[in-house]
Amino acid sequence: MYENKISVIGTGYVGLVSGVCLADFGNTVINVDIDEEKINKLNNGEVPIYEPGLSEYLQRNFESGRISFTTDVKEAIENSGVVFIAVGTPPKDDGSADLQYVLSVARDIGKYMNGYKVIVDKSTVPIGTGRKVAAVIQEELDKRGVDYKFDVVSNPEFLREGKAVYDFTHPDRVVIGTESEKARDILKEVYRALYLNDTPFVFTNLETAEMIKYASNAFLATKISFINEISVLCEKVNADVQVVAKAMGMDGRIGDKFLHAGPGYGGSCFPKDTRAIVRIAAENGVDLKVIKAGIEANENQKLYMVEKIVNKLGDLKGKTLGILGLSFKPETDDMREAPALTIIPELIKRGARIRAFDPEGIKEATWRLKDYEKDIIYCDNEYEVMKGSNALVLLTEWNQFRRLDLKRVKELLADPVFFDLRNVYEVEEVEKVGLEYIGVGTAQKA
Ligand code: NAD
Repeated sequence: MYENKISVIGTGYVGLVSGVCLADFGNTVINVDIDEEKINKLNNGEVPIYEPGLSEYLQRNFESGRISFTTDVKEAIENSGVVFIAVGTPPKDDGSADLQYVLSVARDIGKYMNGYKVIVDKSTVPIGTGRKVAAVIQEELDKRGVDYKFDVVSNPEFLREGKAVYDFTHPDRVVIGTESEKARDILKEVYRALYLNDTPFVFTNLETAEMIKYASNAFLATKISFINEISVLCEKVNADVQVVAKAMGMDGRIGDKFLHAGPGYGGSCFPKDTRAIVRIAAENGVDLKVIKAGIEANENQKLYMVEKIVNKLGDLKGKTLGILGLSFKPETDDMREAPALTIIPELIKRGARIRAFDPEGIKEATWRLKDYEKDIIYCDNEYEVMKGSNALVLLTEWNQFRRLDLKRVKELLADPVFFDLRNVYEVEEVEKVGLEYIGVGTAQKA
């Protein structure tokens, strides 16, 4: 049994979930962050993000002493044999991934290393970063005049926000990229709970593992853009994208996931990772035309949603739109690159005022949409949104928006139009109460 402690540096969506779940697998974990407020909250038993199921896992492992939280990176590194890097890799203006946080952690590791360690990169990083991390660590060791051995492993993370705990504990596969047999054996011990449980493991080299993450995200994002473009065509030719997607998905070669037409993908991963892989390719003289087209289609899709609303309601000056859902998907408070951040400003620029509600995203939305605050009222619940609104726009399909009292919706709206941008409702059930229904990818009535 592997007995050394693990530290996870970076305690955000990925680092916190990884730390808590690795502790649940029986490891002893030290989670580190530079954000003191976050660490204080965690030490008081509070979860700083909204992620279903996480607080139970946290409590259980915190009480048993298998997980602890600190801002002391030196102590964490000195006391662990495996160091996970799980800091952010946000996009720079040119689309490339900003590696400053990853490389600063690498520098810390080199500074405080006191014996053999396995450095595991969980952050999504451009191909070649693992070698860069190794070089930075070596540089620091050379400065200190010490000769500790270490191995760098790429272990990309595939969890989905909103289902992060389940995904971490039931992954479709675990990817381990390293040429070191010793490091590979240690990682097998770290993931022993999964390894013994028939979870598929892919052992490969550093670069392949780094590429798997970008290729997977780019493929999923492109699949969404594909069905979104098909949905626009469906509207013109009297076809129903939901039936099209369902029947396509029955083909085992295609699969039924990620074929839901909607307002475009968002979140902290797809937009940044698609742009980053295009950039990495360009630096290597390769033009990734399919992924570039997928990115463009996604931008168009968000604007097409605005166009649909304007086409129906005409001039938006003096009109109020009720928006249900702000986060980029249900079950998360994450607003990074959410379609709402494009669609709401575009509606406001066309003269609309907004009433909005999201079960978890309002705090985030308030600062991200600060420039538009005078035209947005955040409401306490879904029906408050409708009071005084002309029409309703369902933007994120939180469960509580799936069974609205449609009669009440009709009574509250001034112009009875319901834009269901997630295709949650059947046209018949909405129209039965006298509301006009506008979905995505179904033939539009003239
Ligand atoms: P995040 O912004 O939620 O968390 C990053 C954390 O790192 C922050 O708490 C920050 O304070 C901390 N940090 C920054 N510099 C630090 C340092 N020097 N020492 C200690 N802590 C430091 O980011 P995230 O969403 O968890 O993403 C992390 C990585 O995982 C990214 O590369 C991302 O692409 C990847 N990823 C994210 C998801 C997801 O769904 N969020 C899924 C798979 C992979």
